[in-house]
Amino acid sequence: MAVLLVLAAWGATGLSSAAAADQPRNIIIMFADGAASTQWDFGRYSSKVLRQQPFVTTDVVFRQGVVGLLATSPSDAYVTDSAAAASAMSTGFKVKNGAISITPDGASPRTVMEAAKAAGKRIGLVTTATVYDATPAAFALHTASRRDSQALVDQLRALEPDVVMGGGADYFLPASAPGGKRKDGQDVIAAFRARGHTVVRTPGELAAASGPKLLALFSDDDMDFEIDRDPAREPTTAEMATAALTALAQQSPNGFVLLVENENVDTAGHHSDAASLMRALWAFDDAVKVALEFQKRHPDTLVIVTGDHETGGFSPTYALKDLSSSASSNRFYSGDEHVRMLERITMSFNAVKEKLGTQPSAAVLDQLLAKHFPGFRLDPDLRELILGGKIDERNVSYVPQSALGRMVARQTGYYWGTSGHTPQPVVVGAVGPGAGVFQGYQDNTDFGKHLHQLIRGK
Ligand SMILES: [Zn+2]
Repeated sequence: MAVLLVLAAWGATGLSSAAAADQPRNIIIMFADGAASTQWDFGRYSSKVLRQQPFVTTDVVFRQGVVGLLATSPSDAYVTDSAAAASAMSTGFKVKNGAISITPDGASPRTVMEAAKAAGKRIGLVTTATVYDATPAAFALHTASRRDSQALVDQLRALEPDVVMGGGADYFLPASAPGGKRKDGQDVIAAFRARGHTVVRTPGELAAASGPKLLALFSDDDMDFEIDRDPAREPTTAEMATAALTALAQQSPNGFVLLVENENVDTAGHHSDAASLMRALWAFDDAVKVALEFQKRHPDTLVIVTGDHETGGFSPTYALKDLSSSASSNRFYSGDEHVRMLERITMSFNAVKEKLGTQPSAAVLDQLLAKHFPGFRLDPDLRELILGGKIDERNVSYVPQSALGRMVARQTGYYWGTSGHTPQPVVVGAVGPGAGVFQGYQDNTDFGKHLHQLIRGK
């Protein structure tokens, strides 16, 4: 039980939070897109019941480190998207939804990774999304729209991070190559290789890579949900974090700044998919454990665990057993038996959607449910929505995922308020030198300002 060892070790030494003025040599930002306090607590609860393990984000980082909250609104709305939230956390300035570290007046304030590079630090971006997706992009680059994928990869090439790892090979390769989408015929993977990066395309190659610079691209677009992941094709978030730290810790007289993002926490929230969320949270937490173990060996490292916004209006609650009566005797509260039902699910709603295709058949649907969702029954109203490709409420935009989400919710109490984001403040947990500045209720721009100050050292 390595996690217990980590717990015991921290318990023994204590995590005396460093004075606010302390400057870390290395900064590791562990980032679960779409996670706020309900997601973190679900990770803690499900990990305890199903894995008999501490969830290190809550049980070590939050419990023993410094904890703060961040308000998340962008410049042009109450509810944020990932681009605006990450831009504020990276630059210290509010931007509009959809913008990548460009302010409403057109300015491009320095990103965290640009500041780190200017300070002589090595830099790394790791994600389960495409490496040019909103979060890694906003921590490093600038575009008016998060959809400018080719321009973002061009900027990534110019910035030349020491470690780039995740999905998104499509905009690194010319349209003439398998999976390629670039319109200018260029091969950006070859360009990184020519600049000294070891190029990695499989988990086996990742395990064997030993150089200080890595370009690792495991899929043409986003990497898979943990619940669907094929270990021969894609590594875990923890394996990616381990490889990134091994690479960045080499030849780094001035230290490094590393961002490790699990995007599937957000995507599972958009899809109202509690079982996929649970597996994604565990995968992320295993990577937090890797970061904490590195911090233990290198105490001049600051580890930050956070998210950018809440996704899904996630609300584990109670439900009526059926609609025959609203009496409390006909009610159940979500508990251990219900999280055990989630554990028996073996496929993401997204994979169900792909298998159903554009003309869903009742026979295929029934087979998938019987095999991958044991113990769940699909009510006639939800079956009609799925087979008809229909939605029935305006805060929902994923078909058939939201109907499958309601199937699971009716029997487990794992309900969702929306298939979008909510303004729930996000939690920041920090361990190591400089952690103290994150304490209290702050704005997400404060998070960015603190990072720049910690990197500058004044
Ligand atoms: Zn999102």
